[in-house]
Amino acid sequence: MNLILLGCPGAGKGTQSKLLAQRYGLAHIATGDLFRAQIAQKTALGQKVESYLKSGTLVPDSIVVEMVAGKLGECSSGWLLDGFPRTLEQAQALDKMLKSEGKTIDMVLYLNMDEKAVLARMTTRRSCASCGELYNTISKPPTTEGKCDKCGGELKQRDDDQETTVKKRLMVYEDLTRPLIAYYRSEHAFNEVNGNQPMEKVTGELVAFVDQAKVAR
Ligand code: ADP
Ligand code: ZN
Repeated sequence: MNLILLGCPGAGKGTQSKLLAQRYGLAHIATGDLFRAQIAQKTALGQKVESYLKSGTLVPDSIVVEMVAGKLGECSSGWLLDGFPRTLEQAQALDKMLKSEGKTIDMVLYLNMDEKAVLARMTTRRSCASCGELYNTISKPPTTEGKCDKCGGELKQRDDDQETTVKKRLMVYEDLTRPLIAYYRSEHAFNEVNGNQPMEKVTGELVAFVDQAKVAR
């Protein structure tokens, strides 16, 4: 099964994607996570993309598409895309890639979120530097402040979760990524979930849709 999760920055794509990928045995392909790993490892790709992530602007399409193409090649038994595509050009490149391999997108899930709530959610989010577990200082605090419940690692704020950068990312989303909603609504199986609800409720609704996609296969 091949799935795409769409939504603005801070809509909860990362949290929900991890749960869904695990539940359905899909490869979780999160372009932001992949870039951050490259930056942490100081690879050539990491150095190329670092300034874009820092400033909250998009990495050029050609670089992203090439990286995703490589990943999809490794994940023939199904995937969930999180953070890609983010522009119409990326969506078209993906369609072309899949067509040439006789593959399809089974469902696009759109996590719709009130953008006013996003800013508060993002400036309070933290993640474990060791295992990547996600926290929020208000809605999901760790038992011990600054420490990961799962592995004891140090909790950090993402460089691009500062208020001014979050605002920039939301503007980029409005301009370049929002048009994808209309694109996928017309071309693919498309379902929308209200991301302002409690996390478990969001997961439940997503699962119900993915179960439908599974039956439809
Ligand atoms: P969020 O969805 O919370 O904004 P991500 O972790 O998905 O965060 O992305 C972080 C950053 O990585 C983006 O602001 C952008 O610079 C870069 N990035 C991730 N995916 C893409 C993509 N598909 N196209 C261009 N840039 C991307
Ligand atoms: Zn951890």
